[in-house]
Amino acid sequence: MSKSIMQDLKSGRCYICSRWMDRDYIQKGLEKHHVIYGKGNRKLSEKYGLTVMLCRHHHQGDIHGVTDAIHNNPDKTNDLRLKREAQRAWEKKYGTREEFMRIFGENYAEENDDHA
Ligand SMILES: [Zn+2]
Ligand SMILES: [Zn+2]
Repeated sequence: MSKSIMQDLKSGRCYICSRWMDRDYIQKGLEKHHVIYGKGNRKLSEKYGLTVMLCRHHHQGDIHGVTDAIHNNPDKTNDLRLKREAQRAWEKKYGTREEFMRIFGENYAEENDDHA
């Protein structure tokens, strides 16, 4: 398992539960999520450590329809927030916003986000 620059992947915590919802407890059955995905970006997420552990609910959603999951969810709020945090971590560690955009072909930063 290559190292994440967003989270200790062995901490046993769901990134969203523990960081956004103040549910900072160890969970079983976490799944590894590549934060920037699609096209060739999943590989790049692995390479740069843009990976987090998510509980099943926050990763794939559940069968009951109501979901705040990253995948299988027409509401992209959490997906975009996670990508924005990934980009911020990337810019802090690796380079400029322009470089991020060149490598990933995307920009998730908001206007008022500080440059690295
Ligand atoms: Zn969770
Ligand atoms: Zn995923």
